[in-house]
Amino acid sequence: MAKVVVVGTGPAGLSAAEAAATAGHEVTLVGMGHLVGGKACSWRDDKGRVVEHGQHIVAGFYDEMRALLHRSGVDMRATSVSGRMEFIIWEDRDETAHHLHFTPSTPRTLFEGLRYTGMTLGEKLAFGAVFSRGMIELAAGVPEHLDDLCLTAWCAERGLPASMMATNAFRCTREAQLNWPGEISAYSMLQAIRIMGRDYNTAEARFPAGGMSEIWWERVAARIQSLGSTIIRLRKLTGVEVEGGRVTALRFASPIPHPPSCPHQGPVPTGPEERMTDFDAVILALPAPCLQAVLPAEALQVPGLSGIPRITTVAPLAMQVWHRASVTEGPRTVVCGLPEPLGFVVDNKPNYPHLRNDPSFGASLHFVGQEAGFEDMDDESLLQQSLAGVRRIPGWEGFDREGVIDFTVVRSRGPHRRYWNSEPGSLVFKPFTRTPVHGLYLAGDWIRSPLDFPCMENAVRTGRQAVAALHDDLRGVS
Ligand SMILES: Cc1cc2nc3c(=O)[nH]c(=O)nc-3n(C[C@H](O)[C@H](O)[C@H](O)COP(=O)(O)OP(=O)(O)OC[C@H]3O[C@@H](n4cnc5c(N)ncnc54)[C@H](O)[C@@H]3O)c2cc1C
Repeated sequence: MAKVVVVGTGPAGLSAAEAAATAGHEVTLVGMGHLVGGKACSWRDDKGRVVEHGQHIVAGFYDEMRALLHRSGVDMRATSVSGRMEFIIWEDRDETAHHLHFTPSTPRTLFEGLRYTGMTLGEKLAFGAVFSRGMIELAAGVPEHLDDLCLTAWCAERGLPASMMATNAFRCTREAQLNWPGEISAYSMLQAIRIMGRDYNTAEARFPAGGMSEIWWERVAARIQSLGSTIIRLRKLTGVEVEGGRVTALRFASPIPHPPSCPHQGPVPTGPEERMTDFDAVILALPAPCLQAVLPAEALQVPGLSGIPRITTVAPLAMQVWHRASVTEGPRTVVCGLPEPLGFVVDNKPNYPHLRNDPSFGASLHFVGQEAGFEDMDDESLLQQSLAGVRRIPGWEGFDREGVIDFTVVRSRGPHRRYWNSEPGSLVFKPFTRTPVHGLYLAGDWIRSPLDFPCMENAVRTGRQAVAALHDDLRGVS
């Protein structure tokens, strides 16, 4: 049995702590917020309403995440709603909203694709040719050298017409990863498409039924505690000490608590530091900029860790609007192709049991995107622009300013909320779970893994990988 310290209470840190505790280690999990969940967290605003850090979807292939929740006593059926989606894609080129239906049946979805009105027949044929060629090329896996290319170049090389790459349907594939104004790595995006495609029929995607921290992550934290581990909240890692190639101490300080109703705000000021030395292994499950801030300069020069300062990240942006107008009957409509910076919106009202039957709210619109280039836009302008964007969709005309009951803009500029930017050429900078520093392991959605796609499932998998690497090291297996 080893003394293991896990820092970071996002999905990766929770997963690592749970795996280590299950294996019988003495675990201390340290997080700097009030709530657990990291970037996949939720909280209550001053009026008691659930606010999400970002709209999250649990895709069909999230086996490890579902298993973690299951072990924690979460009833997935009762705490989530079907993610079967109808996409409405607004196209600027014909100023029309086009509908694309996704169903759990692949042939049916292909049929729906053929009926999709947002592309010409010629574009659909070209897309079909590129898609089939891509499937053959990538049957054995997505080669890593594709990280040197952007998705647009990869598609262009295979004959996708430029007119199609100028559509919002194409733009959204990149924006779904919050990846703009730059390009997205072909490796990263094709890896995601391949994995989602492979598991398309195995299980349906789901949306959380209101507040992931409450309904899911706090249950995982309770399980970790029930396994005898200690969870310390409101403690920020401020430094890692490395001596003779081994991690020897961690420095922590108590951040001045932010109001529980705005955990996304940063930077978090800290009080006096305390040192922790009583451990055998450390698993750091932090976003790249936070890791860079705590690792000593010498460690950041060691091959395997030296790429970390070259990793770029973006600031997620979200806005929740509670509105009198009503729009969706089910939880399944996602509007894409809205003006940046908030390119996507989902109506969460049917997702939330406490809102679903409340007639005073018509809709709970959750807009999501990232801030680059729009930092100067104030909250009111974001609201006005986003409402004007959705009013163009037939059936959504009622979303006027007057009908807004309340709205919350969530700006996540702090390093603890930043999201890995999967730009071309970045793969080589990402570290692995096992580091060259003895006793130091890494986890997180941006750490290298067979999945290599920044999502909750990858975070959960890397948490378990870190514990597996620790076990190998304890047994002397390299
Ligand atoms: C807007 C948005 C939408 C998204 N949509 C989806 C989706 O639909 N599906 C999906 O699967 N994923 C989605 N994601 C991605 C998902 O949120 C992340 O992949 C996941 O949260 C990563 O988990 P993690 O544990 O690696 O990191 P994080 O969730 O970032 O957790 C890191 C933790 O470390 C803590 N920390 C940082 N520095 C310190 C320090 N010095 N001391 C102590 N603690 C520290 C942070 O406070 C945080 O709790 C989305 C993300 C965003 C931003």
